[in-house]
Amino acid sequence: MIRLQKVNKFFLKKKGAVHALKDVSLNIHKGQIFGIIGYSGSGKSTLIRTINLLERPTSGDIFVFEKNISMLSERELVPFRRKIGMIFQHFNLLSSKTVFENIAFPLRLTNTPKEVIAEKVNNLLDLIDLSEKKDEYPAALSGGQKQRVAIARALASDPEILLCDEATSALDPQTTKSILSLLKRINQQLGITIVIITHQMEVVRAICHEVAVISKGEIIEVKGVDDLFNQPSSPITAELLNPFLTVD
Ligand code: ADP
Ligand code: MG
Repeated sequence: MIRLQKVNKFFLKKKGAVHALKDVSLNIHKGQIFGIIGYSGSGKSTLIRTINLLERPTSGDIFVFEKNISMLSERELVPFRRKIGMIFQHFNLLSSKTVFENIAFPLRLTNTPKEVIAEKVNNLLDLIDLSEKKDEYPAALSGGQKQRVAIARALASDPEILLCDEATSALDPQTTKSILSLLKRINQQLGITIVIITHQMEVVRAICHEVAVISKGEIIEVKGVDDLFNQPSSPITAELLNPFLTVD
């Protein structure tokens, strides 16, 4: 469903270039919850943003729904991006709009009829279990509730893929658990393929089927989640698995 082939990304800076992705090749299957784990600065956000071409690769090809999207123009990308939802660490809700209007937002952009919007948003409010908050503003919500609203908004345009960039990194462990179980439900009940990037091993362990480990822009290991925990083959993976802080 998602295939990256020798993707490279350079960021040009005054002091030279940053090689953020190095020959990254990945194959993510339909229906999977695929995790990408690595330390801060390893290239996770850059990588996930190439999947909907928010970040254009410097070289390499990206196939989504069997189509090579690397060549598409911004205009050609519009309908395609609707099939790919995205959520973020800091939720990115519109603070001047209510919960209902935040979720309705992508549907308003495509001039969806009012009655269709109402039905869809109410169903999504039901799914995220926040119907009673629909007229509140984001400021009145907890972090977990905000992320639920962001998930509902991402689902409003019926995506086939959901990209999650550190979606639980700003949440406490209990709230993280409830967001992960919502994502699992979305994967199982709606059949949506989910890509999760995180630096948290427990996130990977809780819901991912397959995991790629990224270090300094390179994919150093791709495995089923059980194998990753039982037989990490790179020192970086072993280190990520053993997250006790040591201070010299
Ligand atoms: P992660 O999400 O794993 O923390 P990122 O993908 O954000 O890592 O960053 C990978 C590398 O690319 C870092 O060295 C970062 O400084 C650099 N980088 C990311 N985005 C940009 C940008 N827009 N301009 C310049 N450098 C960037
Ligand atoms: Mg990041």
